[in-house]
Amino acid sequence: MGGGLIGVELAEMLHSRKIDVKILIREPLFWSSVLPDTDALLVQNHLESRGVEVISNTEIKGFLTHDETRVSGVELSDNSRLEAQFVGVSIGVEPNISFLTESGLETNQGILVNKHLQTSDESIFAIGDCAELRQSDPKRRALEAVWYVARKMADALSEHLINGSFAYDQGHWFNSAKFFDLEYQTYGQVSNSSKRKNSEQHFHWHNPRMTKGLTLAYEVHSRLFLGVNAFGIRLKQSAFEHWLDQSASIDTVIKELETAHFDTEFSKNYTKELRYAFLSNNS
Ligand SMILES: Cc1cc2nc3c(=O)[nH]c(=O)nc-3n(C[C@H](O)[C@H](O)[C@H](O)COP(=O)(O)OP(=O)(O)OC[C@H]3O[C@@H](n4cnc5c(N)ncnc54)[C@H](O)[C@@H]3O)c2cc1C
Repeated sequence: MGGGLIGVELAEMLHSRKIDVKILIREPLFWSSVLPDTDALLVQNHLESRGVEVISNTEIKGFLTHDETRVSGVELSDNSRLEAQFVGVSIGVEPNISFLTESGLETNQGILVNKHLQTSDESIFAIGDCAELRQSDPKRRALEAVWYVARKMADALSEHLINGSFAYDQGHWFNSAKFFDLEYQTYGQVSNSSKRKNSEQHFHWHNPRMTKGLTLAYEVHSRLFLGVNAFGIRLKQSAFEHWLDQSASIDTVIKELETAHFDTEFSKNYTKELRYAFLSNNS
């Protein structure tokens, strides 16, 4: 239960042991709470091509049991029932900070920290999954439970403790993961379909088999490049960091796309194909 990165890892592990897996999700498409529908469809298509059924628009109403000791299935929001020998629930993470209730430290969803990652007690710092920024970039979450953020916070805190006052900068959002064997990378901001404003334009490309795909986001009027989602194509983080740092236009990104190609052994370079598709759609 749950259409996110952790649920899909569990599904992959069970599936690799030849165990029949169904993924139940609340949203209409897999991870459409994060991905634009074009990308969510591509990922869902990939999961289904691997033999995993994705049941959308559903929630678990209750667990079923024959003998009161082991789960035998689940009841869904439409009152239908599914038999199961095992139910994995992966519906999000939240910091386990209840032990701090009496500590006097200020908390919200996580432990509140300032730009130096200091808690409300200045001699105590918090970083990683448990830390919630008092002031975060409006386009980002105040609590970001991913490994890259934890590492960046650790770097910033080391700098602060060793070399003197140093502020943590969220930088550009990036993340990577795998949906079974489909690699996923994201840099910058690519809003999902329900959050996307009219000013955010998306260019989406995928190959006919939907095994490779890319979505580039940019502002309609200024043509400012906002971000990218890539599936099955490995890109260089340094190239995208550079373009985001420079507030490059989508046209510069398209022109210089070749520099973002990550040359894995025997991998095909899709940049020419992508540039051609973009120019054909935008001329
Ligand atoms: C299954 C899974 C897959 C993931 N995959 C990815 C991924 O692909 N990419 C990605 O970016 N992120 C991924 N993440 C998230 C990533 O693991 C976390 O963001 C990262 O580990 C956070 O680092 P941390 O040091 O804050 O916390 P943790 O790595 O969780 O370390 C916290 C440590 O503190 C200890 N601890 C907790 N409470 C106490 C206490 N009261 N006293 C003493 N010790 C305590 C814990 O035992 C643990 O050792 C994944 C997480 C999970 C669970």
